[in-house]
This record gives sequence, structure tokens and C-alpha cells, in this order.
Amino acid sequence: MNLKSKVIAVAGLTILFFIGFLASQKIRDSFQEQTSLVEEQLEAPSPQLSIEEIYPYDIPKNKTLFAILTEQDVPGAEIQKIVEAAKPHYNLARIRPGIRYNLEFDESTNPQLNSIGFRFSALESLYVKRIENGWSAEKKTEIVELKTVHFFGVVNASLWESAKIANMDPLLISELSEIFAWQVDFAREVRVGDRWRLSAEQKFVRGQPVGWGSILSAEYQNASESFVAVLFRSEGEDRGYFAPDGSSLKRIFLKSPISFGRITSGFSKKRFHPILHVNRPHLGVDYGAPRGTPVKAVGDGTISFKGYSGGGGNVIKIRHNSMYETAYKHLHGFAKNIRHGVKVKQGQVIGYVGSTGLSTAPHLHFEFFQSGRFVDPVGKKFPSAEPVPQNLMADFLDQAADNIGLLPTWESIEVNLRQMASDQLGTSEAQKSL
Ligand SMILES: [Zn+2]
Repeated sequence: MNLKSKVIAVAGLTILFFIGFLASQKIRDSFQEQTSLVEEQLEAPSPQLSIEEIYPYDIPKNKTLFAILTEQDVPGAEIQKIVEAAKPHYNLARIRPGIRYNLEFDESTNPQLNSIGFRFSALESLYVKRIENGWSAEKKTEIVELKTVHFFGVVNASLWESAKIANMDPLLISELSEIFAWQVDFAREVRVGDRWRLSAEQKFVRGQPVGWGSILSAEYQNASESFVAVLFRSEGEDRGYFAPDGSSLKRIFLKSPISFGRITSGFSKKRFHPILHVNRPHLGVDYGAPRGTPVKAVGDGTISFKGYSGGGGNVIKIRHNSMYETAYKHLHGFAKNIRHGVKVKQGQVIGYVGSTGLSTAPHLHFEFFQSGRFVDPVGKKFPSAEPVPQNLMADFLDQAADNIGLLPTWESIEVNLRQMASDQLGTSEAQKSL
């Protein structure tokens, strides 16, 4: 997914306000009604024609352009020239199957190919035409219009479900859950009645939606807290999401789960095991420390495991968010109130160094998981949790005010939800009376 894929050109920015769970068809219609005309029209086929009408053919599997054009009686030498002309833009000798194209012949009794056009994507096409002494190729890049659109929802079962009801593209849903990954664990912590709203850029070419830009601002509210994220864009580049005061939404982990101690054995895919006397990967980091040394949670999270686990001895696992989990092994004992499901804060003491399980001397075996896989916590680069730099803060605060202003108000959302509910009631009553 690349929501931040570069925007080729922007012509006119129309701000549209979408309140409510509109059907996707309705959304498209209203977009088209309000689409401002692109100033500089490309000399290209009329937008009324469908893609299939403009480019009637597609490149079949296992067939070269050479074979296709030979079938159309285009001489080999001509095909060579077409490929040569196109080369600065695209290697037609290796054209992918599925790409749509068109052919234009002149109207002589022995029709000659005059031009050939390819549509590589909604944004890019190539037109190769016959000129006096050969062929010339021209790449066409569509003008992309960006519009600000809005989505909101109330959670009934999950964020995904509520976003689906709002007709939101799955790409945007995962983007939203990534933005708030450090604030809310959307797989586990979402409650019925949580609500969210966001504004995002949608890309249009000739009035047709072709994809997404960035989420500009978003808010997630649960019973006790509200989290707001604002995109910071500087010199045309997305610099990440921040809280409205410019602080980072990301959290960093403590460098080490114990205050005093040294690494006695690093992360390694292959290591001689001191007890088992075989080569075995060491998928964690060992900190040598005296028995009883406090062990701290490296980040905020929820205890996902506490108990005795074979070679690991006394083990605690903490889930930090949907991506990161840490494990602490060979513990002598657990801190008070540490049990499955309990929330812990970064730096909170969760247990004490010991030598339980498969261990020769007191040490902490510390493991780090990213998306379920072992990673080396020492070598790993974690997301930056730096705030907006001071010299850019004024610029950020301006953008933050603008972007937050784009969000639909909760009042308007409430009105809409009530309207929706009564519409549904009306429908079901109408159905009943049938
Ligand atoms: Zn170890």
C-alpha cells in the first residue's frame, strides 16, 4: 500500500463535505456534480468514453507485442521503430499482459497502422504515432485532482465493520489503525460505542476516483479518552502524524528492561547452547544481573502471558500494540498485581531476575516480537517518537488547526446517525407492512 504515492499534479482543490454513511454510488455522483473542471485539458479521448472503448484490447498472456502487430500485418521493421520510439518511456518489448491498448489504421485500401496507444494505469498512458520519417512517442500523465472527503463511524463490533458501513476503502481503514496503533489496539481494545472521524484526500482523474492521498486528520474516541492525529506536511513531504500540540503519537521503548546489567549474550540465529550443548538460535538478549534485580516493562501494554513455561521458567509477556510484544524469562518471581490482562506502564516493575527454567545463572532472557516474529531489540530501529521540530512548530500548528477544522463536527455526525437510524426503522416498518 502506498497512500502517499506521489501526486503527479494537482489542479484545483475542492473541499467537499460528506456527512453520513452515503452509499458509494451516491458518493461518486456527488463528486461528479461538484468536480471543478480541470483547467488544462489534455488532448485525449473524451471522458464520456469508457476505458474499454478507448482501449478496446488487452495484451494477452504469453504474447509479445511483436506477435500481436505481425498478426495485424505490420511489417517487422515498423514494429522495431515503434519499440525504439517508445524506449525512453517504456520497454514495449517486455509489455505486461493485461495492459490495455488501441490501434488506429488509416483508411487506404491497404490500411497502415497510424498510431498505437497504451494505458499503463489510471494515471499514465503512452501514445506512439507515425510521423513523417518514422514514429514518435508521447507519454501522457493525467492531472490528478485532490479532494478532501470525510468518513466517520461508531463501533458496534469492530473498527473494520464500522468503516465498512461508512463505505470506507480498506486501505484507509488500515491507515487509520496504523496512525493510532500506539494509542488503541484495534484488535483487542475496541469497545461498542467508540466513535471515530477522519478527513482524507481522494485522488480523481477526469472526475473518476483513482485512489487515495493521505489522511489529513483523524480522531478516535472511547469512553474515557480521545486521540487526535494530524498529518504534518513540510516542503511537499508527509512528515508523519502528531498530536495537535506537535508531540509524537508513537512511543519509544526503553533501551533495556533492567536498569543495571549488561548483555551477556546477544541475539543470534545460531549459538552454542550452554546447557543443551548444541547449536541453537538465541532469539533474544540475555542480561546478566543479580537475582532479585527488578525487571521493567519496556513499554506500555497489557500482560498477555504470566506463568511457568518449560525452559523459560517464570515468564511474562506484554502486548504493546497490534505489532509489538515483549517476553521476559527465567524470572525469580512476579511483581504484585501482575496477571493476565492487566495493563502496565512503561518502566513499571513486572518481575525480578532469576534463574528458573533452563538457565545456569541468574539472568534475564528478553525477547522482542514484531508481528509475531523475533527481532533483535538491540539492533532494531524503532519508529521515531520525536515531536515536531521547534523550528517547524509554527507551521505545524497552522496546519493542525486547518486539518482539524476539516473534520465533520460530532454534532453533525450525531444528527446524521439519528437520521440513518430512523431511515432504517422506516425501511423495516415498510417491509413489515408488506
Ligand atoms: Zn537467553
